[in-house]
Amino acid sequence: MRPWRSRPEPEGRVERLLADLRIHVEDPRVLAAICEVPRERFVPADLQAEAWDNVALPIGSGQTISQPLVVERMCELLELRGHERVLDVGTGSGYHAAVLARLAAHVWSVELHPELSARAAETLAALGVANVTLLTGDGSRGHPAEAPYDAVNVAAAMQGIPPALPAQLAEGGRLVGPVNGGDQRLVLLRRGPGGVREERHERVRFVPLVPGDGAG
Ligand code: SAH
Repeated sequence: MRPWRSRPEPEGRVERLLADLRIHVEDPRVLAAICEVPRERFVPADLQAEAWDNVALPIGSGQTISQPLVVERMCELLELRGHERVLDVGTGSGYHAAVLARLAAHVWSVELHPELSARAAETLAALGVANVTLLTGDGSRGHPAEAPYDAVNVAAAMQGIPPALPAQLAEGGRLVGPVNGGDQRLVLLRRGPGGVREERHERVRFVPLVPGDGAG
């Protein structure tokens, strides 16, 4: 797939970030995806100098674009091969959705704040990203209309996994996201023939998954 980047990044910023990520992430498809998605396009104008630093950055509405390392680890844990249908909860800037879109067939991404979703839509359209569908609403209910999903990515901290999300996983599907409980950790769920199996991974720090309007 052709990279979405239109011009080269100055000063080896991408290479410096990659060197950092290679210590923790092995999947070459995931490392390639991070190089191909121009993170600077998802970051506010006054934070351009930090766009390729391995840090979370504010994107407005009190929200943040996730740290590249965490985006990469979550993509790696989802074991995407290219054919998957993915649900992404917490669009934010749209960056994580764009990385997922390089690794899977189609991404449905749900965001609670319409203004963030609208900005993400502009960014993705400007980059020509055609395999992401943006939705506004409470992502903790998932998006049943397109279920089941091969992978569910949750980019906001859950107080326990909302039951609607694993319920929308296909057989063999994976869900990854941060779960609060004493500390905040990435949790991976796998839906197998015998039910849902849970693995706990590293500590992370995400903004909370906000309860939605509770309707339907
Ligand atoms: N993935 C984003 C960063 C996620 S920050 C990126 O790449 O930039 C978490 C996001 O989850 C925020 O944008 C927040 O508004 C959104 N969010 C919080 N609760 C939500 C809910 N219940 N449903 C959908 N989105 C939610």
